[in-house]
Parts: sequence; C-alpha cells; structure tokens
Amino acid sequence: MSYYEVSGSAFARALRTVSYECENCGQGFSYQFELIQGNTQTENTTSTNKDKLKKIVFSLKEIAGPIALETVKNEIKSLDAARDFGHEECPNCGYLQSWMIKSWAKVDSSEVGKKVQLPSTILTGVFLVLAIVLPIQIPSISYLVSCLLSFVLWSIGVFIIIRYAMSFANKPNKDFGKVDKENIPTVTWSEPEISLFGE
Ligand SMILES: [Zn+2]
Repeated sequence: MSYYEVSGSAFARALRTVSYECENCGQGFSYQFELIQGNTQTENTTSTNKDKLKKIVFSLKEIAGPIALETVKNEIKSLDAARDFGHEECPNCGYLQSWMIKSWAKVDSSEVGKKVQLPSTILTGVFLVLAIVLPIQIPSISYLVSCLLSFVLWSIGVFIIIRYAMSFANKPNKDFGKVDKENIPTVTWSEPEISLFGE
C-alpha cells in the first residue's frame, strides 16, 4: 500500500497603520505595514479518492488557520513590546523620528557584526599561518617574536575592519542639527484574520 502526503496551508494577516507628527518639521504622516504569517499542516493518506482528499486538505487548512492566527497575534505583541513600529524618512524633510531610531539601532549593530565576521576570520587565518611560517623562512626570527609580530598586525587589521564596517553603518539624521522634540506615534492594528490558502 502506498501513502500520499497531502497538505493544507493557511495564512493570517493584520495591517498596521502608524501615524506620526514629524519631530523636526511638524507635519503629519502615516504609513502601513502588512504582517503575514503562514502555516502548513500535512497528513499521510492511502486514499486516492478525489473527494476524500479534498476533505482532508480542507480539514488541514482549518487546523493551520488558527495556528497562523496565533503566530500573527504573538508577533504583534512582540513588535509592540519592542516598540518596533518600522521606520521611514519624513516625506517632507527627511528626518528619522527618535522612536524609529530606538528600534532601528538594534538592527544596525548586528549589521556591523555581519560585515566584520568574514574578513576578520580570513585575517586570523592569514596571521596564524604567518606566525608559523616566518621562523621557518627566516631562522633569525624566533617563534615568540613571530607570534607577537603577527598578533600586533592582526590587532591592527581587525581594528581597521571594524572602523571600515562602522563607516558603512547608517548614521541617521547626520544632516540635521539638534532636535529635542520627542513625539509618540499612534499605532493601530487591524483585527488579525485568517485566509485559507487556495479558497
Ligand atoms: Zn519632517
């Protein structure tokens, strides 16, 4: 007897609207973000009967729907708790609001980390080889000296890489003077709803 794997998917979605008054120019704007999460359920069956298969798929979708809905609701909670409401430059003056930068800065430092990882790994490999090879090539250099020399060069290299990566990181509002005003955005979510995929 052969088994068939059948699956049923569902999505849940909610629309977030963020309204704010620019802290720099005072104009009001709003932007939207649609949060979508999917879930897929599978089941093995021996049936090849089309009607029966349809019924199974539908029942799987009905299981997947509430799971996707729960995922969306949880993500809304964690986004709100982190006060992560997305970001855009003010369409009028280009300023990034203080509450946008607070959630955005976290993403920023991890971006720097990612950029540093590969070059510093390569650099470490190069100087490890150098520390070993140097005394073999030039016998007047002892292992201690070659290790110290490689370590110093490695430190300088890592420092340069980090500085370079930081210079690429976003520096928000660098063209603006001091803006002391801190507004609070109005954030509203539409009621999260399920859509059974393929219905
Ligand atoms: Zn503005």
